[in-house]
Amino acid sequence: MSKAKPIGPIPSGYRSLGGELAIGGVKASALVAEHGSPLFVYSGALLDTRLADLRGAMPAQLQIHYAMKANPYAPVLEHMVDLVDGIDIASGGELVMALAAEAKAERISFAGPGKRDEELRSAIQAGVTINIESPSECDRALSIGAETGLQARLAVRVNPDFDLKGSGMKMGGGAKQFGMDVDLVAATVKKILASGAHWRGFHIFAGSQALKAEAIIETQAQTISLAAKLAEQVGQSPEHVNLGGGFGIPYFPNDEAVDVVEIGRALNRQLSDLPEILSGTQFALELGRYLVGEAGVYLTQIVDRKESQGETFLITDGGLHHQLAASGNFGTVIRRNYPAAIATQYDKPSDEVVSIVGCLCTPLDLLSDRAAMPAADVGDIVAIFCAGAYGATASPANFLGQGPAKEILIHGAG
Ligand SMILES: *Cc1c(COP(=O)(O)O)cnc(C)c1O
Repeated sequence: MSKAKPIGPIPSGYRSLGGELAIGGVKASALVAEHGSPLFVYSGALLDTRLADLRGAMPAQLQIHYAMKANPYAPVLEHMVDLVDGIDIASGGELVMALAAEAKAERISFAGPGKRDEELRSAIQAGVTINIESPSECDRALSIGAETGLQARLAVRVNPDFDLKGSGMKMGGGAKQFGMDVDLVAATVKKILASGAHWRGFHIFAGSQALKAEAIIETQAQTISLAAKLAEQVGQSPEHVNLGGGFGIPYFPNDEAVDVVEIGRALNRQLSDLPEILSGTQFALELGRYLVGEAGVYLTQIVDRKESQGETFLITDGGLHHQLAASGNFGTVIRRNYPAAIATQYDKPSDEVVSIVGCLCTPLDLLSDRAAMPAADVGDIVAIFCAGAYGATASPANFLGQGPAKEILIHGAG
């Protein structure tokens, strides 16, 4: 047991039933018996709890948007549409999915670099807000708006002149393909206003996967003052300011959950003491992984167990083609173990060190590296947690002809 590597913390809200991991009150073995393996299971009850807790912590007037790229699975998306105030999309494909999930067009906003003319056209026709990422994209949107005879709803995405400290993925503060530099914003907004299009406001997104409340609070304060400064330059109050998000979830050993109560308190103070020009502005947070990441579990069955040079490998029927992020190949510098468990031996103490691997012919296909686990064998089921965001949707399902895993949304509690 001495050479075990630590695993990330198992998210709260998961219980055991008859010695097994249960999701939504159903045992892992029953889920796999009914739906097959590998399987993504998302818990509606955990999604509800997450939203309710977050709303409880945040100022009442703050909107919460869901960045659907984290998990676009239709039943999850439909569930989220009912829980949040807005859906943030990043492609024409996501627009189709959001509308199919009955998100209202006036609650959808469309960000992302490289929007094609067809995507701009369908967004304007649907009546969604487009977060304009460059002066030339603005020109294209305005001329498509004029062609269609519809009033385009346009916000300007700003590349902030600061970043979110401690974020896993920086999306501001330096040369970036996202948004436009601060010095280009006022002229672009003035052009939108002069054209007769509907100027919705600003979108300022500084980074992702931050766990430190202090850093998020500082970024939110900087974002609000930047929005005020830009509004002064424009000479008009924005209806809406999207403050970005960046709330992370604990994936790895020593990661700690973000303190949303502290962030909510600070935001309350900031929103009750706004610069005059923002006093009538509606603010929103856009969150992806924080809302859905911990509500999902990837279940995969062990098909072989073998020893090699003194090490034990549990070989599963899943792998990085479904859970690329857990293998460490989706934007991490150093590979560390996601939270994982033997779902069918959930209550047993860990008494051996095993590497849990997928079925792909590549050494990259590592789900858990030398982790301490209870003894498990062929037929047991492995659970990889934090699979609700950037799991199925961000993995190369066609690699090696494997195909996608089944996904289900389960509604039971516990
Ligand atoms: C990806 C993305 C998000 C969601 O990021 P998370 O880390 O999942 O919260 C939010 N806003 C924008 C603009 C994004 O590109």
